[in-house]
Amino acid sequence: MTAEERRNLRAFQDYVIKILDPTYILSYMSPWFKDGYSGLYEAIESWDFQTIERLEEYRSLLKRLQPEFKTTVNPKDILPEVSKCLISQECEEIMQVCSNKGLMAGAEKMVECFLRSDKENWPKTLKLALDKEESKFSELWTVDKGAKNIDVKVLEDDEMETSDIQIFYKEESECQNLSQNSCPSSEVSHIYTPVKPRNYQLELALPAKEGKNTIICAPTGCGKTFVSLLICEHHLKKFPQGQKGKVVFFAVQLPVYEQQKSVFSNYFERLGYKVAGVSGATSENVSVKQIVENNDIIILTPQILVNSLKNGTIPSLSVFTLMIFDECHNTGKHHPYNMIMFNYLDQKLGGSSDPLPQVIGLTASVGIGDAKSTAEAVEYICRLCASLDTSVIATVKDNLEELEEIVYKPQKFFRKVESRTTDRFKCIISQLMRETESLAKSIFDEIGTITLEGISQIQNREFGTQKYEQWIVTVQKACTVFQLPDKDEESRICKALFLYTSHLRKYNDALIINEHARMKDALDYLKDFFTNVRAAGFDEIEQDLTRRFEEKLQKLESVSMDPSNENPKLKDLCFILQEEYHLNPESRTILFVKTRALVDALKKWIEENSELSFLKPGILTGRGKTNQNTGMTLPAQKCALDAFRTNGDKKILIATSVADEGIDIAECNLVILYEYVGNVIKMIQTRGRGRARGSKCFLLTSNAVVIEKEKINIYKEKMMNDSISMLQTWNEAVFKEKVLQIQIQEKVIRDRQGKVEPVPDKENKKLLCRKCKAFACYTVDIRVVEECHYTVVGDAFRKCFVSKLHPKPKSFGYFEKRAKIFCARPNCSHDWGIHVKYKIFEIPVIKIESFVVEDIATGAQKLYAKWKDFHFEKIPFDAKEMSK
Ligand SMILES: [Zn+2]
Repeated sequence: MTAEERRNLRAFQDYVIKILDPTYILSYMSPWFKDGYSGLYEAIESWDFQTIERLEEYRSLLKRLQPEFKTTVNPKDILPEVSKCLISQECEEIMQVCSNKGLMAGAEKMVECFLRSDKENWPKTLKLALDKEESKFSELWTVDKGAKNIDVKVLEDDEMETSDIQIFYKEESECQNLSQNSCPSSEVSHIYTPVKPRNYQLELALPAKEGKNTIICAPTGCGKTFVSLLICEHHLKKFPQGQKGKVVFFAVQLPVYEQQKSVFSNYFERLGYKVAGVSGATSENVSVKQIVENNDIIILTPQILVNSLKNGTIPSLSVFTLMIFDECHNTGKHHPYNMIMFNYLDQKLGGSSDPLPQVIGLTASVGIGDAKSTAEAVEYICRLCASLDTSVIATVKDNLEELEEIVYKPQKFFRKVESRTTDRFKCIISQLMRETESLAKSIFDEIGTITLEGISQIQNREFGTQKYEQWIVTVQKACTVFQLPDKDEESRICKALFLYTSHLRKYNDALIINEHARMKDALDYLKDFFTNVRAAGFDEIEQDLTRRFEEKLQKLESVSMDPSNENPKLKDLCFILQEEYHLNPESRTILFVKTRALVDALKKWIEENSELSFLKPGILTGRGKTNQNTGMTLPAQKCALDAFRTNGDKKILIATSVADEGIDIAECNLVILYEYVGNVIKMIQTRGRGRARGSKCFLLTSNAVVIEKEKINIYKEKMMNDSISMLQTWNEAVFKEKVLQIQIQEKVIRDRQGKVEPVPDKENKKLLCRKCKAFACYTVDIRVVEECHYTVVGDAFRKCFVSKLHPKPKSFGYFEKRAKIFCARPNCSHDWGIHVKYKIFEIPVIKIESFVVEDIATGAQKLYAKWKDFHFEKIPFDAKEMSK
């Protein structure tokens, strides 16, 4: 239909409505409807448009996000995944626009099609496709509001994690094998196939089978779960007729809990044992007592048992005959593991005659805390043993060779590389960014809104960093919920902010490319971007931004052509590759880099470098943050991996990140982390044992701190291994005695602490901001949540703080951290704590170290470092009070 025909139809629509009988039309059209517009068809059939109406929310969100969608999403990448929500003609059209006018115009077309989609699940399908592509847009596109993060630890924002590379060897046939616990959440063994234990697994299980309390310390990927199955089976079978064993297995994290529950069920149900589980997520609807009574093996998240012991549903640990603690190195301080063991130790030291369960701990690393010497490390490990009442540490000693065939840690090398001393490209781009920022800021100033406060202040964020990227995400997230009474104004402002921030993001990306690759690649990246911008919508703001860039283009071109601006880091990288391929021409390499744009840039660099082009690089991106539901491999990624695996010509694979379950790469023996500090990386290898034994891992970074940290870790690991070896030479009786001494000392301290808790001061006091002394709240309004977190009730307090969205909401225990809160006084902004979602409540959680406590009568002020030192009347949080 032409535009004119469309106009005409609209003009005459009244006549059409008067004349046409829809029921006739419908019967003609329904076969065709069914095919393309199945959602609409169903709605008309049932005269129920609720499903389609529910999509309205997503339509308006996508409309708002359109400027960001078109700059970050590659429509070609996600089209195969989302095509089922579009009509086939639409898909063809999108592809056509992509090839005629560019990706950005194609993305615009795609948005247009989605806005018209009548498929109930298009928002979710789009989400999955974005996740798989590791698209930045995914963070803005929230469909599952109840979705929770699975992190248990609350990470500090700029915490650096060290990298840890492991190579697993895995035979093809072992895909269904329980002996590797390295592929969580994938469809591990829904069908059980009996497996023969490996010798080292039998070795690890031996002391536990003899009934000894044991910590089993062995590397990730070696099959500790299988070892625990062996122990468990042996344990349950040893009871004579008429007696029964009862095993409890603790897992701290929910995904691990789910996985273990299914592994144990599959293994033991065929043997006639009953397996059940309770986690924090399911505990409200079940009776823990009955589940424990009626089953032989119970999988629990530990807090469940802590609660049941406390409220008396489970009177004593004597109901169990065996307790297995997964990730047992956590047993310390206030961790629920320790709470369970306090109960155990009180019973042991209290002289009860009831039998206590056997204790088994599983860990990849017992840790050494802050130990500075082997002696201190030995002491640290003894304390862990005392906490778990164990006096045996089982490690693989007799079957090391067999173990190393399964799990191998490559030798690690560190190279400090240098950055350019001067960087004119960065200067010019930074200038453009400052200009764009001030344009964005003028929008903020124009609205002067409270909603966007906190993020509107463009602080001294360093250009060309991932932190800057995070700020962009924060602003854009705020924009997705931003509202004004005037809706046209609202959409104009949002559109402008999205455009400015998405341009800032491109500049930021370009700076990262420039920092780690060639200037030319960074410039090409921007040129591509602006070509696409021209070919798509190209509104006023975009025209203005493009003009600003083009004014600088000539200068940028000449700078990037200048050989004196070459990146010294690339020389180092080139040198290492050349050297390694000289030593072993058959080497196969995986090169990890920070961003997707860098992957492309380095691929081009290798291809255009005559000394390296023989490597014929392949790429692998978009397998990062997978959650349980999306842990699949995209066909394209599978292709890349297959090509690398089967094509001997491709000698290097450039990748961004690998999901926790690892990637499946054959015969890779060289790992290079190029300015890459990531999570723990594990790799699974299907074939090519042995040859990768001589594998190496290079860490190239310009950050000396990273290298320092890695070195300390290696040193600590050696100290830990030495300490364990030393402890293993101890006479068992001596070890037991040492453990007992520690337990007695600790109990004395624990008991004393319990008694010393003084009578709480019932007098009402004031809390003032520690920095500016502004009034915050009264102690009578403070409530204690889950024993050790403190919130403030009442609306008055809400006016005293401002919150700043947390870029990635994180969960810990029952809480989901949503935002940070700060003193509301504009020139103070002192960090007061966080804002969390707790059950159905959105509440602030404050930290006492941010406040001064003032006595109302005397005005005397006191500081406390910890809540437990502050003895006021602590009123527990009450859901009923909240709903009043
Ligand atoms: Zn303040």
